[in-house]
Amino acid sequence: MESRIDRIKKQLHNANYKLTPQREATVRVLLEHEEAHLSAEDVYLLVKEKAPEIGLATVYRTLELLTELKVVDKINFGDGVSRFDLRQEGAAHFHHHLVCIECGAVDEIQEDLLGDVEQIVEDRWNFKIKDHRLTFHGICWRCSDEGQEEAERT
Ligand SMILES: [Zn+2]
Ligand SMILES: [Zn+2]
Repeated sequence: MESRIDRIKKQLHNANYKLTPQREATVRVLLEHEEAHLSAEDVYLLVKEKAPEIGLATVYRTLELLTELKVVDKINFGDGVSRFDLRQEGAAHFHHHLVCIECGAVDEIQEDLLGDVEQIVEDRWNFKIKDHRLTFHGICWRCSDEGQEEAERT
């Protein structure tokens, strides 16, 4: 955790920004809830627990800055809410998401899996791919019939 904060601090410094205490509190919340896909309001409420003096506008600005510096990605799962997702360090591409249409759970796939698809797109459309966003909508294992049978048996 501390070393990741140090690296994020460096990223900010390289872009001539300081990791102020407010920004650090925001980064810590994101690290502590790495797979939670928090909205700006969610982040704000959690930051407020650590730094009660912080305002929503400051949290918004920090999230925008972190998005600009590619520390986080802003994502939208179709419900009109922007969510903030930390980038995995060293990942060439953004991870994929599985969004359950029953319970709303969001799972992540870190494996890229898209090598062949990207090759086809690059060849056929002469398009140099830098990144992608992939969200699958469906029914998660927890909500599937097999998942429920599994739960009943145990
Ligand atoms: Zn994610
Ligand atoms: Zn589900």
